[in-house]
Amino acid sequence: MQYAITKEERALEKTASNAAGLHDWQWQLRNAFRTAESLAQRGWIPQDSVTEFQALLQRYPVLITPYYAGLIDGTDPACPIRAQAIPRLEENRASEAAQADPLNDLQHRPASRITHRYRHRLLLHLTPNCSMNCRYCFRKTLLGEQRPEFFDGQVFEALEYIRTHTEINEVILSGGDPFLANEATLSSVLKMLDGLDHVHRVRFHTRVPVTLPMRVSKDFAELLSSHRKKTVTVTHFNHPKEITPEAVRAIGHLKEAGHTVLNQSVLLSGVNDGVHALCRLSEDLFSAGVLPYYLHHPDRALGTLHFDVTKERGLELYGAIRERLPGYLVPKYVFDDGANRFKRGVGEPQ
Ligand code: SF4
Repeated sequence: MQYAITKEERALEKTASNAAGLHDWQWQLRNAFRTAESLAQRGWIPQDSVTEFQALLQRYPVLITPYYAGLIDGTDPACPIRAQAIPRLEENRASEAAQADPLNDLQHRPASRITHRYRHRLLLHLTPNCSMNCRYCFRKTLLGEQRPEFFDGQVFEALEYIRTHTEINEVILSGGDPFLANEATLSSVLKMLDGLDHVHRVRFHTRVPVTLPMRVSKDFAELLSSHRKKTVTVTHFNHPKEITPEAVRAIGHLKEAGHTVLNQSVLLSGVNDGVHALCRLSEDLFSAGVLPYYLHHPDRALGTLHFDVTKERGLELYGAIRERLPGYLVPKYVFDDGANRFKRGVGEPQ
C-alpha cells in the first residue's frame, strides 16, 4: 500500500543510498549503521575518536537502522533519538554501582532460554537479535559479552519446561527482540503454546515498532495472534518523536489483528526526563491506540549509568505528570531490583 511520505522519511531519503529500501525491513537491517567509521562519516562521533569507539563497540556493538537514524535531529546535540542510538565513551566507565546483570536473569534460569522470576509467568528468549542496540539497554552485557551463556540451549528445551510447569499461565516472548525471530520459529512456538491449556496469554515485548516498524506488516501481526490465546504486545516507546506515521501503521496492524497493545518506557536522563516529553508521550501513544503501562526507573546496568535519574527527580516528574494527565494516561512508575517477585512502585512503602 502506498502512503504519503513523512518529514522524517523525506530526510532519510536524502541520506539513504536506496530510497526504495525505506519500506523493506530486511533492507533496513542490511544497511544499518554498525561501525565507528560509519558513525564518524555522518558526524555523530568525532573523527579523531574512531579508534576509541572501535574498542567500545567491541564490547557494546552499535546497530541503528537508517529509518531510526533518520529521526535524529542533526542540529540538536541533545536530540533524544541520538541519545538512545549513538554510543558514548562514558559507556566504558567502570562503577561499583553498575552490574552486568542487574535483574539477576542468570540466576533465574531453570532451563535454556527461560527467565522464570515470577510464579505464574516467565520469559522465553527466542533470539539474541534486536532491531537496534539501545544504548540504555539493561541487558547489554547479556546480549554482548555473556551472550553464549545467556543464549545457550534450544528453544524446545524451554517449551518442555513450560509444558511441565502448569502454574505458568502467561508466556512472555522476549529476546533480544521476539519480532526479529523468523516466521518459522514464531509459528512453531505459538503452535506449541496453543496446545497447552494452562497457558492463557502470550505476550510480546518489542522495540521493533519503534526502530523497525516496517517489519510489522498485516500478515506478520496476524501470524503473531494466530492461536487461541489472548495476545498482548508491549511496545517500548520512550519519546514522542518515535511515534511516527510508520510506527502508528505498525500499531494499527497489531490492533487489527487482535493484540492488546500496551507501552512501557524507561525514564532516561537526556531522553525523556521532562514533564513535556512524558505527557506528550502518553498523549501520542493513546492517540495511536496504545495505553501507557509502565514507566520504569532505570536499572543500574553496566554501560548505562549516564542515563541514570535519581528517584527523587523521578518522583518529582511523576507528580507533575499526574497533575496534568487523566489517570488512564499515567503509567505506573516502577522499579525492579531483581530481589522481589514483583515490580514495586517507586516511593511506595515496602
Ligand atoms: S531492543 Fe530491547 S533488548 Fe534489544 S537492545 Fe534495545 S532495549 Fe535491549
